[in-house]
Amino acid sequence: MSHLDEADLALIAMGEPASAADERHLVACARCRSRVDQLSAVVATARTITDDDRPVTPPASVWEGIVAEVGLADPSTDAPVVSLDQARRRRRPALWWLAAAAAVGVVVGSVVTTATTDFGTTTPDIVASAELEPVEDSAYRGTASVESRGSDAVLRVSVPGLPAVDDGYYEVWMASSDAATMVAIGTLNPGEEAVLRLPAGMEMTDFPLVDVSVEHFDGDAGHSAVSVVRGLLPA
Ligand SMILES: [Zn+2]
Repeated sequence: MSHLDEADLALIAMGEPASAADERHLVACARCRSRVDQLSAVVATARTITDDDRPVTPPASVWEGIVAEVGLADPSTDAPVVSLDQARRRRRPALWWLAAAAAVGVVVGSVVTTATTDFGTTTPDIVASAELEPVEDSAYRGTASVESRGSDAVLRVSVPGLPAVDDGYYEVWMASSDAATMVAIGTLNPGEEAVLRLPAGMEMTDFPLVDVSVEHFDGDAGHSAVSVVRGLLPA
């Protein structure tokens, strides 16, 4: 027995009237009836999507982290991303809802591609790296490296085993070698590696000292003077 095609099953699931021949087939065919049931469930779910369910663009730091984590393989190996418009053109217009249901995946895919494109044409080039030594009675040590990615410079900092800070967080700084001038680069979360894009135009050689401090949610943007690790990037 030949079964109804997917497109017709989908139309029926959406509430379009079935042709007389299709009706007869459905009465006789448990397999096609079950397929209509499955598609009806998808339609029902798709119709409950509200604005609150739409994906939002995550902060740039999330993608930078992912891009760094992925290691930026050859861009030509990236999976092709089909735009929603292309996806619609390939399908029958009445299947718009299938495209809509897929939109969540498609949108996320596009964002990943954009982020990859920003960095994708170059492999990271490690410019300098340093061991981060414990400061005073700190028990921790870590590593820092500066990578150049095309026109971007990225500071990668890892301090294994850092505990959570009570009412506070860890801040990564780069400082002049006498520590007189310090630039806050970003946050290091316990258990994570921080991958922080350096401000454009910042000369790494002017700020070779990498420092991780304990900061509190006190509105004071300056260095707390409590550091856990510190290291000097070679010039
Ligand atoms: Zn059938």
